[in-house]
Amino acid sequence: MKTEKYDLIISGGGMVGASLACILVGYGFKVALVEAAAYSSTNQPSFDYRALALTYSSGVIFRKLNVWQGLSTTEATAIRQIDVSDAAAGGHVQLTARDVGREALGWNVGARAIGAQLIQVLESNESVSILSPMILKQVEINDVGVFAMADDSEGGTDRPLSAKLLVIADGSNSALREELKFTPRSIPYRQCALVCRVETNRKNRGSAYEHFIRSGPLALLPFGENGYSVVWTQEPEDLNEVLQLSRSEFLVRIQTIFGDRAGQFKQLLGERKVYPLTLSYLKKFTKPRVVVVGNASHTVHPVAGQGFNLGLRDVAALAQVLRDSRNRGWDIGNIEVLSKFERWRSQEGEYVTWFTDGLIQIFANEFPVLTPARNLGLDLLQFLPPAKQWLLERTMGMHGRQPDLATIERENSGKFR
Ligand SMILES: Cc1cc2nc3c(=O)[nH]c(=O)nc-3n(C[C@H](O)[C@H](O)[C@H](O)COP(=O)(O)OP(=O)(O)OC[C@H]3O[C@@H](n4cnc5c(N)ncnc54)[C@H](O)[C@@H]3O)c2cc1C
Repeated sequence: MKTEKYDLIISGGGMVGASLACILVGYGFKVALVEAAAYSSTNQPSFDYRALALTYSSGVIFRKLNVWQGLSTTEATAIRQIDVSDAAAGGHVQLTARDVGREALGWNVGARAIGAQLIQVLESNESVSILSPMILKQVEINDVGVFAMADDSEGGTDRPLSAKLLVIADGSNSALREELKFTPRSIPYRQCALVCRVETNRKNRGSAYEHFIRSGPLALLPFGENGYSVVWTQEPEDLNEVLQLSRSEFLVRIQTIFGDRAGQFKQLLGERKVYPLTLSYLKKFTKPRVVVVGNASHTVHPVAGQGFNLGLRDVAALAQVLRDSRNRGWDIGNIEVLSKFERWRSQEGEYVTWFTDGLIQIFANEFPVLTPARNLGLDLLQFLPPAKQWLLERTMGMHGRQPDLATIERENSGKFR
């Protein structure tokens, strides 16, 4: 059987792997995207029911990839302000798009809708082969390249592949990452996230809420005109109890906890889905001819909606380093090339990991001195515009050296659509 030759093979075509493929084909690379779950399946684990809060810079990247244009305004709801509150201490801060001179802080978009657009862009490009449902087997790496067999789980013909570089993007439980001896540090949170959607009797006007309760944060993100996507983090036993509630009892429960700031919760839409949560990260995510990205490289708590946004900026940076290196005639699988990427992106990865974990530790802590300190911290933030700007620039992905794809054109510096 003839070996198919590519520049890169990506294992895992979820949110991060498919985004990377879109960027790479735009830079003229030939890519094999190997994805285990069929894209037509409603069980595709990455393009699922959850909604993702995209930062401003992720919106900029998706617009340049032509992914954004296919998302209707109901599928991408602008987040114009975020209200952060602490149930125990009563502290409160409101962060708005005006604080950073933008029309939105970010957008809340269904993962399924983003996935559909990514696949549409990829299917219209001849430089990418989507091998799905398939997984990589017999992976061999040597001085000249990567060799693997794309194994068809549905009994079709296996396909031998070769490339200069292998990218592992197959999620938090990546078996290939272990096989190639990348060892992540993993600390399971004693928490799970319940995800659902609710309809309210009032327009959301782009308001998002992050309400910290000792048991974990309850986040409401605007979805459509009259609704919110909900991410409620709690210990598994508490969540089991919540899952036993009828749909109307559930609405009463979140109304009691959250109050009426967002209006009355009228209806629970669709299913309630639970995700176990783990903190996991690799100190080193490159080896000769191999790079690990996305959740396979770092899985963070969803508290501040940073995981995918970080993964997207990482792969935009990776593709840029590969493009520049190829243009200079260098081998893109060379460790010197990959180390450039690792040096560029390590610090931001560490910052996001510890920022999200720190939020969970600080707001869950009942140490007597900490409660008034939290309160003071939030109140100070409310009245210090430079501190708000400092925080927002970091959480919106606009701080430090960013990839070319994430930079905002000067003529469009305040407006998006
Ligand atoms: C409740 C919750 C809410 C979240 N909210 C946000 C948010 O608001 N904003 C944000 O930025 N992030 C958010 N995140 C994080 C975000 O979902 C992840 O960062 C993102 O999905 C990571 O994408 P990925 O492609 O790296 O991994 P995954 O989404 O896990 O995708 C991995 C892909 O690899 C495939 N795969 C698995 N094994 C193999 C194999 N052997 N071979 C080939 N393919 C394989 C899978 O089928 C899948 O398609 C949230 C996470 C959770 C749990």
